[in-house]
Amino acid sequence: MAKVLIIAEHLNGKLNSSTARCVTCARELKAESIDVLVLADAPDTIAAEAAKIDGVNKVLTAANAANAHALAAIYAPQVVAVAQGSGGYSHVLAPSTTFGKDVAPRVAALLGVAQVSDIMHVDDAYAFQRPIYAGNAIVSVSAPSDQILVATVRTASYAAATNGANAAPIEALNLAVDLPTHTRFVALAQGSSERPDLQSAARVVSGGRGVGSAENFAVIFKLADKLGAAVGASRAAVDAGYVPSDLQVGQTGKIIAPELYMAIGISGAIQHLTGIKDAGTIVAINKDGEAPIFEIADIGLVGDLFKIIPELEQALG
Ligand code: FAD
Repeated sequence: MAKVLIIAEHLNGKLNSSTARCVTCARELKAESIDVLVLADAPDTIAAEAAKIDGVNKVLTAANAANAHALAAIYAPQVVAVAQGSGGYSHVLAPSTTFGKDVAPRVAALLGVAQVSDIMHVDDAYAFQRPIYAGNAIVSVSAPSDQILVATVRTASYAAATNGANAAPIEALNLAVDLPTHTRFVALAQGSSERPDLQSAARVVSGGRGVGSAENFAVIFKLADKLGAAVGASRAAVDAGYVPSDLQVGQTGKIIAPELYMAIGISGAIQHLTGIKDAGTIVAINKDGEAPIFEIADIGLVGDLFKIIPELEQALG
């Protein structure tokens, strides 16, 4: 039976919902136990949040000033120590976010195992499905069952486990691990916005090259504000300098799963579509009725975005 250790993702004392999504994936493994490991300088409030996630059996904490920032080089040997310790873990999971993609490969390398990346479906505890070719194909992968399995979980494929009813015990660990000194925290450069977070928003309004300029993007921001939505963009819009790169949706941007996705002036290249595969309702506005985005859109409006958006806003009241 699988015993799963999930590496908690957190920032500024708050647990990221990617951790609860990993719990949902871990439950598909039919695990005997699911434990969450919180590495932080002050892990208590984060651990308390993790303990409430349904399906979590235990929360382990490792308080250390060196854990104040999520440095993969510092976290990885501690994860390995816990994974190989008395817990007898068979699986180590991390979300397939920037954080998880940074930490998990180091954990796998230290354990001397190959990593399974981007789990989108669990066939059994050692067999999974994951996307390849920018999401154009799904591949089934099997991993050996005689070693610890390290994997990242495609968070857009899993809803967050419910939160609130559980009260898992929290255990403070005292890890005697030699931490490397070759990596140190310098600074975190982070965009700030009053708008909903692109990766977790229920509604996203995205603009593409068709929007035409940074100034014109005001129409996208205005519509997003009206809908209480986050703003996204295609790579062409980012490359043209209309918006910053942290708004990019797609293969080399953010993979998102909002309930509503509006693609405006976006043609629907495969690299963009891979980022919105799990979106609920997709609305496309494009003046080219042949644009590929209409092949996957639930609702398509053919016309000039600068005419349609004001009409939509008026209709929204
Ligand atoms: P275009 O393809 O130029 O489409 C613009 C659309 O706007 C057209 O369909 C046009 O009809 C419409 N339009 C123009 N004017 C109006 C108007 N007034 N009203 C309504 N519609 C209008 N792309 C991503 O988005 N995300 C990624 O992560 C990503 N990663 C990539 C990774 C690799 C390795 C590669 C090779 C490419 C990647 N791309 C990515 C780029 C991708 O292939 C496309 O080039 C890009 O998505 C195109 O962006 P777009 O749809 O905004 O632009």
